[in-house]
Amino acid sequence: MSEGKFVVDKKKKYVIFCDFDGTITVNDNIIAIMKQFQPTGWDGIVERILSKQMTIREGVGTMFSLLPVSRRDEIEHYSIHNITIRDGFGDLLDFCAQQTVDFYVTSGGIDFFVYPTLEPYPIARDHIFCNHSDFSGETIRVTWPHPCDEHCHNDCGMCKTTVMRRFPAEEYTRIVIGDSITDVEAAKIADHVFARSHLIESCKQLGITCHEYETFYDVLAKLKEVIACPS
Ligand code: MG
Ligand code: ZN
Repeated sequence: MSEGKFVVDKKKKYVIFCDFDGTITVNDNIIAIMKQFQPTGWDGIVERILSKQMTIREGVGTMFSLLPVSRRDEIEHYSIHNITIRDGFGDLLDFCAQQTVDFYVTSGGIDFFVYPTLEPYPIARDHIFCNHSDFSGETIRVTWPHPCDEHCHNDCGMCKTTVMRRFPAEEYTRIVIGDSITDVEAAKIADHVFARSHLIESCKQLGITCHEYETFYDVLAKLKEVIACPS
């Protein structure tokens, strides 16, 4: 059982937790919205999130609170129409369906762009975890239906590890696919990590073995080796 190799345990079920922004989609959609609509002060908030002076929940909530609901149509239209899906996503979902691998989207993104983007794909609504939005006030209010449980103190907003803990390691082989700092805590408790971009560096610093990918075809190739044809 050498490190870095999939350990095939047929008694366990495979479950995938896949990030949305920068993983399923090519770009980070929150950043794209902020760049497009330029609410005053958004870039300083991003810096504070990255330097951990602000939690992700505080930072994302504050950034959206800078956007007036009067621009709702523009914001929704822009965010949905500027999304590019990473190659191979549909094929990965087909494979998961064939092999009865549970597939969950665990996203720190917001419902108004996450749900419409995933609409063409066969993913049940209860398999998509993301933040929600409230347009009833003057500015956009992000609501947080999936907060951190008692084991997480990162104030994630949408807490990926809280979702993962519902799938105990004794029963599931837990696979995380991600791209950035918002996936690090999930990567720490996963059995297998697929990483691109900043997440590769974070995994290296923390000594977490990861499989690097650029498209979902890379992910699929690795998964096929071990799930479809276990040695
Ligand atoms: Mg991401
Ligand atoms: Zn958390």
